[in-house]
Amino acid sequence: MQNKTAIVTGSTSGIGLGIATALAETGVNLMLNGFGDAAEIETLRAGLAAKHGIKVGYSNADMSKPAEIAQMVATTAETLGSVDILVNNAGIQFTARIEAFPDDKWDAIIAINLSAAFHAIKAAVPLMKQAGWGRIINIASAHGLVASEEKVAYVSAKHGLVGMTKVVALENANNGITCNAICPGWVLTPLVQKQIEARAKASGKSVDEEKKALLGEKQPMLEFSTPESLGGLAVFLCGPSTSTMTGTALSMDGGWTAQ
Ligand code: NAD
Repeated sequence: MQNKTAIVTGSTSGIGLGIATALAETGVNLMLNGFGDAAEIETLRAGLAAKHGIKVGYSNADMSKPAEIAQMVATTAETLGSVDILVNNAGIQFTARIEAFPDDKWDAIIAINLSAAFHAIKAAVPLMKQAGWGRIINIASAHGLVASEEKVAYVSAKHGLVGMTKVVALENANNGITCNAICPGWVLTPLVQKQIEARAKASGKSVDEEKKALLGEKQPMLEFSTPESLGGLAVFLCGPSTSTMTGTALSMDGGWTAQ
């Protein structure tokens, strides 16, 4: 995969960072994206570049802003040479029952978890078509396939993302471009840690007890998937053995959606 370039949105933390690291290990140049402390992001950027002998850029594009997304894609092509792999991963969460769900949280989740992928794919597909090769990976969720209470915006966005994956796959079936969704179950990242801490606060139980309770409610397998294992799946989707795999939603969810 040397001389290929990947954009991984939301790669300053969690699953995105796991995927960016796994792609770096295969020699892919990277455009990192996401929020965080500027000095820490620069250490991460420079560290990945030095360790793997690859070019690594960073875009602070806000995934809720369509113009910034288009600019990130254009800048990647200009500064790193191409956009071969696009991983739409940035995401946020908010939980409340629908009657209490704030309108601004709905808008933000739909913008970042769903519309951002539309804008990034729209900007990247012409470049991939020109190159005759492209891999688009949308990080959906078990919540792209099944629902839970109190997650109306997240579940709507992730189901939409699975649908978008299928459309993009069909439209590009003969352009050398594949588009697939990955649907993780629980992964212990800051996004989930916040949910566990909120549960512990509400129940008065320990964070460890709530971790086990969270897994047990949804997953037959009482284990978190890891950013590293999701990185492995993303690399698999970019490799030669999956060149006809397109439009799929691949679960890595400890059996969550097998039930
Ligand atoms: P995380 O909070 O650790 O990381 C989210 C990343 O997105 C960070 O880099 C953050 O800076 C970035 N981000 C957030 N808002 C942004 C914005 N407006 N513009 C640019 N970047 C922004 O979360 P995570 O758990 O690694 O989640 C990554 C993806 O995986 C999300 O789409 C999430 O829905 C999905 N997912 C997570 C789990 C899980 O259990 N952790 C399960 C299924 C799906």
